[in-house]
Amino acid sequence: MVKTDERIGVSTPQAEPGGAGRLPGSEDAPTKPMRSRVLELIVVVPVVALLVAGVWRERDALDAGVWFFAICVAIVDLIPVPTWGGLQLSLSFPVLLGAAILFPPAIAGLIGAVGSFDPREVQREIPVLKSLWNRCQIALSTAAAAATFGAIATVDSPWTRIVPGILLAAVVGYTLNALFVALYTAVGQRISLTRVLARMHGGAPYEFLLSYLGLGLMGAVIAVFYDREGAWSVVVLLAPLVFARQMYFRSRGLADRLAAQNATLADQAGKLEELLEKEHHTVGELRELNRMKGEFVAVVSHELRTPVTALIGYAKTLQQPAFADDPELRKEFLERMERQGDRLLRLVENLLTVSRIESKQLPVSVGRVLFEDLVQEIVEGLSTEAERIRVDVPNDLPILYTDRGLLGRVLSNLIDNALKYSPEGTACALGARADGDGIVFWVKDEGIGIPEQELPKIFDRFYQIDSSSTRTFRGAGLGLSLVQDLLAHLGGTIGVHSQPNRGSTFTVRMPARTTLHEPSPGSIPGELRSSS
Ligand code: ADP
Repeated sequence: MVKTDERIGVSTPQAEPGGAGRLPGSEDAPTKPMRSRVLELIVVVPVVALLVAGVWRERDALDAGVWFFAICVAIVDLIPVPTWGGLQLSLSFPVLLGAAILFPPAIAGLIGAVGSFDPREVQREIPVLKSLWNRCQIALSTAAAAATFGAIATVDSPWTRIVPGILLAAVVGYTLNALFVALYTAVGQRISLTRVLARMHGGAPYEFLLSYLGLGLMGAVIAVFYDREGAWSVVVLLAPLVFARQMYFRSRGLADRLAAQNATLADQAGKLEELLEKEHHTVGELRELNRMKGEFVAVVSHELRTPVTALIGYAKTLQQPAFADDPELRKEFLERMERQGDRLLRLVENLLTVSRIESKQLPVSVGRVLFEDLVQEIVEGLSTEAERIRVDVPNDLPILYTDRGLLGRVLSNLIDNALKYSPEGTACALGARADGDGIVFWVKDEGIGIPEQELPKIFDRFYQIDSSSTRTFRGAGLGLSLVQDLLAHLGGTIGVHSQPNRGSTFTVRMPARTTLHEPSPGSIPGELRSSS
């Protein structure tokens, strides 16, 4: 009825090729275990003997119809059916059941044995014993179905007897066949019989049983048609069925392919959505950058205008005749002009350095640097504000080999911020100590401090904690980003320790020697950043 072979299909776990539920029929001969061969022998020998004896007894029933049915079974099975997991439409099953109705058990068994011809036997792809096993178990199942049907009805019985007879025969034939297949798998692969049976019937055991009962009824129709109309009616009945089955499998195949294509399309759509999301993000970032640049231009213009306006104001005032004879006042105004000039110069220098860094044209010239000398020079350059700076730099610090000008810019930007963001009259500390070959220096103020959530952003270019037009402090949001870039060139790192309203400490670590290479963006701070 059903060979131990996926071509004809008891529903089997074919979807797992090579897995535990693999069908014995598809096993390779050389790897087949000994116990499978023993099982084959145990079944084949008595079944062949019984079949031969039975056929001999019923030899009178051997007519052309027997061969007609055997050929029908073989042809129906030879038409290739694409392998497809789950239910399969076995058309040889109803033909064999038709034979089970029409012929005595032994002859029906013979039809099963002859009809279950497998082309692989010709190509010697299956061992003889295995093909005998296949044929024997189909013969036995068909014979059992015939015996069951024969006990209840004959082909001439009314339908009220034929139908229960064939349904019972279908159940018996199918069950026996399924047990053979399961037993073979269980023995060959050492899995429990119940597990194999559960796998064979997959997730749709009832659907499966119903479809085989339906096929059983078709067997009854085939038998009655054959009995009343002759062989041609079976051909007429089977041909459209075979055609419909092929169409069914093709459309299933097509549906599977379409489903796979749909899945690919959905996958691609997902990826596109992700890309779009990233694009949105980038556009958002670009917009923010644009906004910050616009703001920067406004801030810088303001920063430039303030000292220039002050300078012009002082110059005009000094031209007043009243100032000509007052050297004290003249001195004070000139000092103020100098401070405004310094402020202007620092801003312009910062802008120039930023543009050189952006265009990767920042010249770095390494030389011998005594840190204490550098500190003195910078603090003196601060004129009146120098009074607020408490310098505590030992004079035995290691000598640095670095760019004096750029390190000076780092220092003056940090001092500038400390003075700017702390109230007048409070002190700002500038200290240093040796750190291995290099040094660590810090600039500490008792000013407004920095909120913790702002700390990661203060080193970003153009970033200002208060960038409103009414902000209290001057500045263009360039100082710290510049400090960070310069330190990247010099091989140094920076960290900050700050508490709102308590003050901030910026700590810089400088190596003994600046090596000239492209600065890596990752060589910058981080490790020292904290707010506690
Ligand atoms: P700015 O030109 O605005 O000073 P910076 O890049 O030097 O730009 O600093 C970025 C921001 O970090 C400043 O706007 C300020 O809010 C904060 N900041 C920098 N230094 C200090 C400090 N010593 N005390 C408090 N806040 C500071």
